Amino acid sequence: GPSIVWLRDDLRLADNPALRAAIDRGERVICLYVLDEESAGIRPLGGAARWWLHHSLESLASGLRERGASLVLRRGPAERVVRETARDAAASAVFWNRRYGGPERTVDTALKTALRANGVEVASFAASVLFEPWTVKTGTGAHFSVYTPFWNACLRLPPPRHPLSEPHEIAGEPRPPASEALQDWGLLPHRPDWAAGLRERWEPGEPAARRRLREFLASDIEEYDRARDEPAAGATSLLSPRLRWGELSPHTVWHETIAAGRGGRFLAELGWREFAWHTLFHFPDLASKNLRPQFDAFPWPPLRPDLLRAWHEGRTGVALVDAGMRELWSSGFMHNRVRMVAASFLVKNLLIDWRHGEEWFWDTLVDADAASNPFNWQWVAGSGADAAPYFRVFNPDLQAKKFDAGGRYVAKWAPEHLSHEPLEPIVNLAETRRAALDAYAHVTRSA
Ligand code: FAD
Repeated sequence: GPSIVWLRDDLRLADNPALRAAIDRGERVICLYVLDEESAGIRPLGGAARWWLHHSLESLASGLRERGASLVLRRGPAERVVRETARDAAASAVFWNRRYGGPERTVDTALKTALRANGVEVASFAASVLFEPWTVKTGTGAHFSVYTPFWNACLRLPPPRHPLSEPHEIAGEPRPPASEALQDWGLLPHRPDWAAGLRERWEPGEPAARRRLREFLASDIEEYDRARDEPAAGATSLLSPRLRWGELSPHTVWHETIAAGRGGRFLAELGWREFAWHTLFHFPDLASKNLRPQFDAFPWPPLRPDLLRAWHEGRTGVALVDAGMRELWSSGFMHNRVRMVAASFLVKNLLIDWRHGEEWFWDTLVDADAASNPFNWQWVAGSGADAAPYFRVFNPDLQAKKFDAGGRYVAKWAPEHLSHEPLEPIVNLAETRRAALDAYAHVTRSA
């Protein structure tokens, strides 16, 4: 019978080991995507993520069509839907690339057992991280909680495999199981249509991802090392949503980077992505629980919804924060340096629990993923792995002076800050910083 490739966070044809295994098996191939908003613990996608997913699936479907195959779309709890699809298609094999989140692994394990019990061949592959979490261990066999030794240990392992080539032809099933229509999934915003800024900035899908990688690698390498922290410089790769959706594999990025003679600094950033997934694998509650439990004693004041809202909308009166939050709302993205400053401001000046910020980013970032987003929020808050010490409170004005000296970034996203008298921040930065440090002293005392 035919082979099913169940695609998840790997919406690509090149370097896709599950797809390659199905092609090599020599039977007809059925590619399946399941929109799973029902399985226990699976976090529903945010709005910006749904927008990206819609377009990336469209692109994938057309890539498959050109090669002779089609994409079957189904909605529902994945374990049931994949089993039903396998049964309807009389499939004799199901392949997928592994996921590393807790609820996702539960689904995949249950499915593997159920399919095998029905005599279906099942195999899963490493494709979404360079180093699978269980392969990176300390000398005593534990997992790492500090980045630098983690990354050094990764670099001592056998290097990531070379990417698999892209299939030019796929023997699709002539009568594939019925597919739902992408349009019926309602992944795109309806009314209001908030996606104009996303359409303007991004082109989802594998072909555009590959173009962007090539363009980035052809640009000046010194520019990345020198200007990666300057939000107006446009020096970073903008690959995060492409990696999030698997339009590019990290293996492809890794090897093409080395082949282009680029190196350390950029690859070390990919290392942070690896570390975030490593951390999530060992701590599946990363989005809901403090990694360091002593932070559970943090005396958060009662939530001020007005302050949270002002932060959402980029109306805090702090230039760099407002610019970042507007960039996020309008384009589904925010530069890394500004993410750190905006996150620090929420936690340490507005004294709002990092989980509220994480949720907003989850809903608005096109690159939001289950590992990097909570990992970085906990890093900023000081509750996470290898976190910035809590007492390191960014001063957003000094950050703006240092990294947006010419004011180009603020001019683009929050120009009123430049054309008026200095705006009044919604909270007093010095006072709130002191209050945050007092609250933090409470955590260290109770530890
Ligand atoms: P580049 O500088 O070109 O880096 C190359 C790649 O390395 C990125 O595409 C990304 O895959 C990876 N990377 C770089 N920095 C980090 C990091 N700190 N953590 C994990 N991976 C990293 N990144 C996400 O991909 N998804 C998220 O949901 C996310 N949420 C964040 C939340 C906060 C509060 C902060 C401070 C950072 C967050 N980041 C997240 C990390 C980082 O901001 C983005 O990966 C980066 O801005 C993407 O831009 P780029 O691709 O141009 O980065």
